[in-house]
Amino acid sequence: MLSAYETIAAPMGSTAWMEHGRCGGESSLFFAPFAERPEARVRREARARSICEQCVVLVSCRDYARRNRELGFWGGESESERAEAGFAPTTPIVGRKRVAEERARDAMRRVL
Ligand code: SF4
Repeated sequence: MLSAYETIAAPMGSTAWMEHGRCGGESSLFFAPFAERPEARVRREARARSICEQCVVLVSCRDYARRNRELGFWGGESESERAEAGFAPTTPIVGRKRVAEERARDAMRRVL
């Protein structure tokens, strides 16, 4: 049985489709680095979009991201495109800062 925390925090919807995604190992294209410049975001998201356009689980991925108000580029959609469709991320500022710090640590580990 799930704990109260798991019940609240677990993402909604099946995640079985994830193993068929074309983005494995490319998380740096799908999640913004800390303090990313707008021009770099446009280039990064264009590369992510081109991968999504060839992905067989695009619809499942987009639905999952919308339902869970995810951060990052999912199912051929950026955060701002999801927001325009009515599914803005709900991660609080504190959560975004933590996510940015974790990503920066991961990036540094890969560099060192
Ligand atoms: S649609 Fe894009 S983000 Fe989603 S699994 Fe496929 S490649 Fe990854």
